[in-house]
Amino acid sequence: MNKKHVLVTGCAGFIGSNFVPYFLEKYPDYHLVNLDLLTYAGNLDNLVEVQNSERYTFVQGDICDRTLVESIFEDYNIQGVIHFAAESHVDNSIKNPGVFIETNVNGTFTLIDVAYKNWMEKPFVHLEGYEECRFHHISTDEVYGTLGATGLFTEMTSYAPNSPYSASKAGSDMIVRAYHHTYGMNTVITNCSNNYGPKQHDEKLIPTIIRKALSHQKIPIYGDGKNIRDWLYVLDHCKGIDLVFHEGNSGETYNIGGRNERDNLYIAHKICEILDTLKPKKTSYKELITFVEDRAGHDRRYAIDATKIETKLGWEAEENFESGILKTIIWYLEKYKLEA
Ligand code: NAD
Repeated sequence: MNKKHVLVTGCAGFIGSNFVPYFLEKYPDYHLVNLDLLTYAGNLDNLVEVQNSERYTFVQGDICDRTLVESIFEDYNIQGVIHFAAESHVDNSIKNPGVFIETNVNGTFTLIDVAYKNWMEKPFVHLEGYEECRFHHISTDEVYGTLGATGLFTEMTSYAPNSPYSASKAGSDMIVRAYHHTYGMNTVITNCSNNYGPKQHDEKLIPTIIRKALSHQKIPIYGDGKNIRDWLYVLDHCKGIDLVFHEGNSGETYNIGGRNERDNLYIAHKICEILDTLKPKKTSYKELITFVEDRAGHDRRYAIDATKIETKLGWEAEENFESGILKTIIWYLEKYKLEA
């Protein structure tokens, strides 16, 4: 069987490490090359289930390192890119924005420019055999800014990023857009809402709530806890990426969201309720919930209109928040038991 070699970036992180096992199992003719710098956010333990697969190769390195990226394209004859790698934590982007611009903007530029040079002879002319090569950029709904009490982000919503993180992701989306319009590259972009599920870094909201509760520490909730996000179970996101990578229209953007708007306080309460059942203590975990000073520039509400991917590609979220969070908590109970 002729193998198709796909470069996936940043797959030692949360979403990529859920995506790789799913994708390898579904497509037996794919070989995935994972380029990841292994920053604090990357962990190869997330990929133990594929580490011995002959259809999976790990390369440690920086997406900004052009020589390295060029050598990967050459060594493996890369015919597709799914680009997850990013600095992804908004709080870190407030403290240290520079690395976000470097990785998210310059890194995306390096990857797509090397892909262009490897796949195309000149604008709108592909090299023979590379006509189907696609660059899929993974992005976020945060590029659209914040919403009031009503309304949803569609693919037509104007960009209005508010944090250094979302601004750097918006910049990377624009570079990908430009390579489609200027050079005729086969690109797709997916803008997804907040993910949750197994393998997410401890610093993020849901693992923090679970960890703090289990260790009987205060559960910190920003501001009044009323910030709303549209929560999507990570495997549903992976299935959406798979569909868009294979069936999306070149040059287009697809929003992915679970139609599961929940505020932070609801999330903390729900997790505590489930823990009260699975790991009961004398008092409810809810008593640990504490309000802390709000994040600077904290966006109030994000919510995705997923009509396009639902109607054009037949995607639908399989989990709602209540079913997905139960699976997630069970996974973290196991993780934190092993680490204890
Ligand atoms: P993550 O922070 O868990 O993982 C990022 C990975 O990228 C890590 O393995 C890290 O080592 C790697 N990386 C960072 N800088 C790198 C560099 N310079 N070169 C190579 N590798 C590098 O992130 P995630 O939550 O898995 O997010 C993946 C993608 O999805 C990101 O592009 C993010 O913007 C996007 N996204 C995430 C969410 C979410 O809720 N987590 C929602 C929408 C979109």
